[in-house]
Amino acid sequence: MRTNDDKSSVLCRRRFLSAAFGTCAVTPFSGLLTTQLAASLSGSLTKEQRDSMSPDQVIDELKKGNGRFRSGKMTPRNYLAEKRASASGQYPAAVVLGCLDSRVPAEIIFDTGIGDTFVGRVAGNVVNDDMLGSMEFACGVSGAKVVLVLGHTACGAVKGAIDDVVLGNLTGLLARVKPAISAAKFEGQKSSKNADYVDAVARANVVLGIGEIRRRSPILEDLEKKGTIKITGAMYDLSSGVVEFIA
Ligand SMILES: [Zn+2]
Repeated sequence: MRTNDDKSSVLCRRRFLSAAFGTCAVTPFSGLLTTQLAASLSGSLTKEQRDSMSPDQVIDELKKGNGRFRSGKMTPRNYLAEKRASASGQYPAAVVLGCLDSRVPAEIIFDTGIGDTFVGRVAGNVVNDDMLGSMEFACGVSGAKVVLVLGHTACGAVKGAIDDVVLGNLTGLLARVKPAISAAKFEGQKSSKNADYVDAVARANVVLGIGEIRRRSPILEDLEKKGTIKITGAMYDLSSGVVEFIA
């Protein structure tokens, strides 16, 4: 039998990433919930809300947020209220390592608010020491439950790596993507002009990125072994808007 606290926790989780509220006062009458909450849209994810969720629940909320994005029924947000609610502290539930690409803004495609997710972006969503340090802060210090490596279709960094582009500091960055070229299993034309091949390499890049995180960060690997966090990966489709979790 559920206690009132259990109900409260469930309702708080329901609100996570869908309508960030500063407090989690609940009504036992779920029929009234929508109306009451709409009038009290006032904040970001709280510590209690974030801490009450398991890594799997956080992943589930990200999936639901992507569903809202795809359907065009995104949470109506009051950014000024979210700013006010999060100014004195942040309790993000996930850290996303995404690509620099302007078409893959994690907060929008997962329909999250201010203070709900950490997001680090670099071309090709490559893992480097600074990103690892940032993810260790996010999970080991701040308490985020999920590390998500987010690749995407038609990635320019992946195309650049395939084409062996040489350009200033970009050359070194693309070198971090190149292991995915040999790791990708693909039958067919291996060219940056073949969209399926580009996406296969991007997918391999996500999988390798997850392995790199575990290998190069004993802190994150340990948190994952304890079940405190989950390290996972996904591919975002620029055309459909679908985020497919692949690892
Ligand atoms: Zn990209």
